[in-house]
Amino acid sequence: MPAAPGIRTWMILGGRLGQAFEFLTADLPRRAGARRGGFLVKMYSALSLRALVVKFASVNRAQSEALFAEALKYIPGGVNSPVRAFRAVGGQPFFVNRAKGAHVWDVDGNEYIDYVCTWGPAILGHAHPKIISAVKAAAEKGTSFGIPNPCEVTMAKLICSLVPSVQKVRMCNSGTEACMSAIRLARGFTRRDKIIKFDGCYHGHADSLLVKAGSGALTFGNPDSAGVPAAFTQHTIVLPFNDVGAVKAAFAANKKQIAGIIVEPVPGNAGLYLPKPGYLEFLREITNANGALLVFDEVMTGFRLAPGGAQARFNLKPDLTCFGKIIGGGLPVGAFGGRADIMDLLAPVGPVYQAGTLSGNPLAMAAGIAALQELSRSRREEAHSKKPEIRQRLLASSPTKERNAYARLEQLGAQLEAGMKDAAKSAHVPVTFNRCGSMFCMYFASGPVWSLADAMNSDRDRFKTYFHGMLDHGVYLAPSQFEAGFISTAHTLADIDKTVKAAAEVLRRF
Ligand code: PLP
Repeated sequence: MPAAPGIRTWMILGGRLGQAFEFLTADLPRRAGARRGGFLVKMYSALSLRALVVKFASVNRAQSEALFAEALKYIPGGVNSPVRAFRAVGGQPFFVNRAKGAHVWDVDGNEYIDYVCTWGPAILGHAHPKIISAVKAAAEKGTSFGIPNPCEVTMAKLICSLVPSVQKVRMCNSGTEACMSAIRLARGFTRRDKIIKFDGCYHGHADSLLVKAGSGALTFGNPDSAGVPAAFTQHTIVLPFNDVGAVKAAFAANKKQIAGIIVEPVPGNAGLYLPKPGYLEFLREITNANGALLVFDEVMTGFRLAPGGAQARFNLKPDLTCFGKIIGGGLPVGAFGGRADIMDLLAPVGPVYQAGTLSGNPLAMAAGIAALQELSRSRREEAHSKKPEIRQRLLASSPTKERNAYARLEQLGAQLEAGMKDAAKSAHVPVTFNRCGSMFCMYFASGPVWSLADAMNSDRDRFKTYFHGMLDHGVYLAPSQFEAGFISTAHTLADIDKTVKAAAEVLRRF
């Protein structure tokens, strides 16, 4: 429902008043002397006027509300992907008008620091100039050909050079397709049917993988979807993550029947938790020992946790890897790749069928190549830097000077983690902050979170309050406790600072 005109006017007035007040109080210490400024700032925060005014200014989402009402008439739930509907946190989604760098603006003109980053792809921030110009140039030449184009070769070479376990790669259109096809390939290669997956991990919405799945499925309490015949999932064995004994028992009970294990090496679809030391190595060993394949779903972690993904970070070589998100630079894309002897089982060479009208689409390839090249460029520059000590000094003073994308993401992540932990501690709110590089999740739980069972112990009512509080302070987090947050290279220390201050303010009121 659009807000009543009277309320709206008050909100706009409140917003303008707030901006004027912020301007005055921010500038007074400098312009009129520290004492007078200090007094005003104290008075200002004592009255909590800022919080009040900013809240009024930012809650004007009348145009988003009107659009959502319209969307509900024509789109199921008003959204084209379930988590976007804000159902887990209550309220309604805002509609984005534009995005640039680490910020998005909604149709009502509200600005947010974005930690969703289009659910991972925007690692360089939104509307990166190199990606935009690559897409424009590609579009001038045609938007789809349905026959090979040179960009596909460039992209394949890039992926193979960046991810050592990948000798050959096939492009597709989404992470879902990538995982579905990798599983078919693993089954075709091993001539076995059973697959192990872990509860809370999400591998897209293909039938056989939609069992105890994370992300939206988990958020809405439907980790097993209606419409999936039991027969389609009878070969899917679901186990708890980080549980060595459970995997051993599954292999013992299903000798020579397990085609492979599919796993998010750092699960990011039930919040975020890390593999315990040695766990991924154990998965590599047990699959090798049993003639099964190890499939890493790096749709989220690929090119994010390191240039070579989580597998490079943990120094492991899976047999197959699924990609998506970052390799499309924000356009729809997916890919799966791995050992050449396995990949060569795909049609047209081998008997495992897989296809796609838009696979290797020139716009998606151009955007993805630009993204990967930009991520690699900073590393090349760093490698050629003759004065590492200067780089170190710059870095110490400000991570925003860091040209190596991954080092920069790590530093921003560390800054956020330290700030959020401090904010929660000062507010006496128990949280568990998990982070791996530029992926993070703050659970409202006091214990460590290593698995879905641990994640389920978090206080989701607290998360709701936190989510809306942050949104009203101009910080956009994923609208569910069971989603990871993402940092981009476009985030600045000032963004992190503002985020931490907002969290301190929100948590203080718990
Ligand atoms: N695998 C993982 C780890 C994901 O996080 C996702 C989506 O978030 C998928 C697969 C499915 O990808 P898509 O949404 O592109 O189909």
